[in-house]
Amino acid sequence: MVPGCTRDARHAAGPSATAEIARAVMRRGQTCALGSRFAAAGALTPCTYSTSVKGWGYPLVVGRVDCARYPGSVRIDLHTHTRYSDGTDTPAELIGNARAAGLDVIALTDHDTTAGWAEAANAARGSGVALVRGAEVSTRAEGMSVHILSYLHDPDDADLATLLASSRSAREVRARRMIEGLSRDFPITWEAVLAQAQAANAVGRPHMADALVAVGSVPSRDEAFASILHASGPYYVPIDVPDSAQAVRAIRAAGGVPVLAHPLASARGRVIGEGTMAELVEAGLAAFEADHRDHDAATRAKVRELAARWGVPVTGSSDYHGSGKLNRLGENLTEPDVYESLAAQGHLEVIK
Ligand SMILES: [Zn+2]
Ligand SMILES: [Zn+2]
Repeated sequence: MVPGCTRDARHAAGPSATAEIARAVMRRGQTCALGSRFAAAGALTPCTYSTSVKGWGYPLVVGRVDCARYPGSVRIDLHTHTRYSDGTDTPAELIGNARAAGLDVIALTDHDTTAGWAEAANAARGSGVALVRGAEVSTRAEGMSVHILSYLHDPDDADLATLLASSRSAREVRARRMIEGLSRDFPITWEAVLAQAQAANAVGRPHMADALVAVGSVPSRDEAFASILHASGPYYVPIDVPDSAQAVRAIRAAGGVPVLAHPLASARGRVIGEGTMAELVEAGLAAFEADHRDHDAATRAKVRELAARWGVPVTGSSDYHGSGKLNRLGENLTEPDVYESLAAQGHLEVIK
């Protein structure tokens, strides 16, 4: 073990994620020694990430990470949005901005849609930013809204596609009802909110927030969320979406990797209890998102404690939405070994 190193990573992983980490480390001018199979696969000469491979087809990677040099070497942000849901970037702009932010890996996770995948994949190929194709699935548990990130699932899986479609239509029904309520007290209309949504596939609360900002009812999107649009407020209408555990099972059945997004973000409304979280782990949840701007330090520690109790890793991400929200790309990051193990569980390859 390297002095001061706390991680001796040992996990099943495919070759692609490891190769990508090695390349990213090398781009930063550091050195490492890799197992012969990776070296033979080309491109992988000296770097600080030491790893060896046992068995045919890379079934197992045993890696030892030099933590003295490694932290922050590879920047991985696994939760972002584009105009295909409620972000402001096009997928190509997202990839460009991720590159400018010094990110090595991003996940595109628009709400309940994979419509931005093709554009993002085109922009990501050869860009130096690896792309994890994903979605943020709207679900419900204990009568509350629960967001579950799905990574690398098969987009042709009929059950999951149906589930995403029903969530999208539920979003529209919900949006119409919320705007009806809002329009009684504020000078906004369905058309005004739709204008804010532009190319978005689904009208959501961020667009309502933008419409409220546009007419001067509130100074910013974030303040609209904290006040008028808050889940405990009088205008909030819940989305009638699939059960969370059912969604986790559907994601796994489609070869996806389900991760619970911002599990204890109380700023967004009430949060699910530990019983439900345990049930989601039981259903196949792969990780909890711990480092997120809606979690303060104590909440992040709590998420880590729960994750450790159930033996699942934690992720960190920005939940970037473009210029409309304060979230900055890379403001929270996922550890490379966690990313690697998640990527290895997915049906699809990471695009590089
Ligand atoms: Zn979310
Ligand atoms: Zn999100």
